[in-house]
Amino acid sequence: MTSTKISETIEDYLSIMLVLERDHEPIVGARLAELIGVSAPTVTNTLKRMARDGYITMDEKSGTHLTAKGLEAAKSVMRRHMLTEWLLVPMLGWSKTHSQAHSMEHAVSAELEAALNNDLENPSVCPHGNPLPGFEHVVAEWQPLLSFAVGSVITIRRIHELAEQNADLLAFLETKQVMPGRTAVITENIPFNQTITLEINHQPVILGYSVAQYIYATPHILPEAV
Ligand SMILES: [Zn+2]
Ligand SMILES: [Zn+2]
Repeated sequence: MTSTKISETIEDYLSIMLVLERDHEPIVGARLAELIGVSAPTVTNTLKRMARDGYITMDEKSGTHLTAKGLEAAKSVMRRHMLTEWLLVPMLGWSKTHSQAHSMEHAVSAELEAALNNDLENPSVCPHGNPLPGFEHVVAEWQPLLSFAVGSVITIRRIHELAEQNADLLAFLETKQVMPGRTAVITENIPFNQTITLEINHQPVILGYSVAQYIYATPHILPEAV
């Protein structure tokens, strides 16, 4: 397979577009500018380049979408990102792995990607619980945190990709142990205050809805009584 090296900027756009398309969120310039942290004119210029190079189609009526070529390239960068996260977790810790992997993912060759995948035994999700491309079904049954009733005992499963971008938030969640695999009890939900309170390891954790919307969980299955 021959492939010309894609610029880091384009790869960053591709992976964000992949997440937006997967979640049925429209790809619009203002949203990209906000998520990538650049100006609207910069986004417009980059989108034009991406359309010219065949990664996306842009149409007034149907909107902006990844082409088959764009989708393949996006899946590749997402896989490299997530495998790099697993590589770095033991060294850097859970909350710091995303931003480092984000810088390193572009340098991961197809050969290294295959070696990592093999060594990590084909993970289906990243350390934050987000699905590798092709493993979306693994997370499909996980429910938004805000959908659980007060009193529910749950297992935290996933912190959405769009929340991974916020390093301060990830550091907070790590300190409070709001991480995949942890058991939590929902102790309070105050809609007028837009807060939900969990108890993890006997410690209360108060989350605003704006953060909680990025967290997914499953009902906790108690071990069978012997
Ligand atoms: Zn990440
Ligand atoms: Zn991740």
